[in-house]
Amino acid sequence: MQEKGNISIHTENIFPIIKKFLYSDNEIFLRELVSNAVDATQKLKRLASLGEFKGETGELMVEVKLDKDQKTITISDRGIGMTSEEIKKYINQVAFSGATEFMEKFKEAKDANEIIGKFGLGFYSAFMVSHKVEINTLSYQEGAQPARWICDGSTEFEITDGDRTERGTDIILHLNEEAEEFLDEYRLRSILDKYCRFLPVPIKFGTRTEREPDGEDEEGKPKFKEIEVDDIINNTAPIWTKAPSELKDEDYLDFYRELYPMSEAPLFWIHLNVDYPFNLTGVLYFPKVKNDFELQRNKIKLFSRQVFITDEVKDIVPEFLMLLHGVIDSPDIPLNVSRSFLQADGNVKKINNYITKKVADKLNELFKADRKGYEEKWIDIGLFVKYGMITEEKFYDRAKDFVLLQNVKKEFFTLPEYKEKVQGLQTDKNDTVVYLYSNDTGKQHTFIHTAEKKGYDVLEMNSPIDTHFIAQLEQKLEKTSLKRVDADVVDNLIAKDEKIESVLSEDQSKLVKELFEKAINKTTMNVEVTGLHPEELPVTVTMDEFMRRMKDMARTGGGGMMGFYGNLPDNYKVSVNGNHKLIRRMLEEKDSETQSRLARQAFDLALLSQGMLTGADLTDFVNRSVALIGA
Ligand code: ADP
Ligand code: MG
Repeated sequence: MQEKGNISIHTENIFPIIKKFLYSDNEIFLRELVSNAVDATQKLKRLASLGEFKGETGELMVEVKLDKDQKTITISDRGIGMTSEEIKKYINQVAFSGATEFMEKFKEAKDANEIIGKFGLGFYSAFMVSHKVEINTLSYQEGAQPARWICDGSTEFEITDGDRTERGTDIILHLNEEAEEFLDEYRLRSILDKYCRFLPVPIKFGTRTEREPDGEDEEGKPKFKEIEVDDIINNTAPIWTKAPSELKDEDYLDFYRELYPMSEAPLFWIHLNVDYPFNLTGVLYFPKVKNDFELQRNKIKLFSRQVFITDEVKDIVPEFLMLLHGVIDSPDIPLNVSRSFLQADGNVKKINNYITKKVADKLNELFKADRKGYEEKWIDIGLFVKYGMITEEKFYDRAKDFVLLQNVKKEFFTLPEYKEKVQGLQTDKNDTVVYLYSNDTGKQHTFIHTAEKKGYDVLEMNSPIDTHFIAQLEQKLEKTSLKRVDADVVDNLIAKDEKIESVLSEDQSKLVKELFEKAINKTTMNVEVTGLHPEELPVTVTMDEFMRRMKDMARTGGGGMMGFYGNLPDNYKVSVNGNHKLIRRMLEEKDSETQSRLARQAFDLALLSQGMLTGADLTDFVNRSVALIGA
């Protein structure tokens, strides 16, 4: 038998286009052909289990072979095979049913995935790398004749009798010159590893040698012999395909190590498993992230029926959960993972919401079941939770019950608990509850100490995300504001009705202000004389909360107005405590030299308490102090 024909009149130029436009992604030919082989194998298994195939299935595996001399790659399976009629139907017609549309759309397509997936051109991706493709196949059906299909990349094909004696299909790719990179064993192995690592049918790629016990030698020592075994590159039953009840913690940890050999053990994980209204399985791990979250992205792998698709899961996974690791498998996610398409896809939105909900549920469960353990993990979890609360409204609503605040004494509170704790003392005259926080307990020690002396509590907010988290809390919590503990002198941080009056007269205040301005001699230091408690420090240097926050945001990458604040010089307020006895002493001092030295000394002490005293100023301070002790 021999038959020649034309694939389709509409598709004169389809192969050159496939080659040209899909070239950048051409390694996916292997994914497509191995998937087809797996599909054919799975179909056979299914027929056998339904009793529709009664023969021996034999050892079902897919084999990928490389022949460097012939410059061929062969993908073989023992699946259902095809009759020549089926080749005509499935390869020549069906695979090309979308061809006309394809010809219209290919110009808009941005990458190979988009075209391959959308137009069902899986098999034809072979022509991205081949100048000739052969199908050598024998159908499982009783009495079927082997068939061979050959196509040289033009629109003409040829079907003849085949010579296959065993059920199944060989796809033989005669690589073209530009594709000779694929004649490299390591290259092929790495592609298989990327796309086929978790396919449900064993994939053999060559052999490897193994040592096997072989009796004992004359001295009674065990002997070994080397044997050749099939090198199976995949794990056919990855954990996400199993029921959570079948799995132990160790299985999840082992799988994590398999995926990310270099990473520390994860904190915990979530097993995803839904089949309505969309189908999705997977395991998401919470890694130990600490603070460098940029590095951690693109760690979630997306599969479709165990075929690896991409690790760009943007749009499928909510932005804040991109920090997670693991796998998601969904036949409902279109293979062509291109942005515009995904955003329009209804399932993707649902999947996104589902994952957000599952993550929130899991965190809530951990929080409820073991508060202590949850607190211990907070350094790592906190980053996700806060990031999620900032970026996803829905997640904020769930997380507000289990987000924790930690104070400088390392105690943890939920939002309601914390409000309960501080509202008594920390409500100002406008009925606003003021939460105080520190982002550097070392530098702000003096301020923390002063606040605590007043019975105030100070939160620790030192992760890179906290600047944004603070703004979010203020927006969400009613009548609550957050102030860094060094944003002002303690009495102004939480302004009360009772005001301590300065004992100084107006003239004295003016004089003190001038004295300090002269001694400090910096335009960025704005001196103000106020009446504070006599016990407070004589001088306190602070930066306004609003100004500092704008600067922090500018530093962590806020655009627009933030740039404006980022460029302003650092301005500070120097609060002189008119009620401190040092000020009295200064006013009584006759020698203006000494007056100035005292002012400078008090100012430097304020700087010193915040780690702001450096360089020549520090040297001057040390020398002046030595002189003062000597005096
Ligand atoms: P899809 O896999 O999406 O159906 P393809 O272009 O990859 O599209 O394959 C087209 C058709 O060719 C398949 O649906 C199948 O019927 C047939 N086919 C391809 N490869 C094999 C194979 N190895 N064994 C049996 N049939 C195959
Ligand atoms: Mg296919």
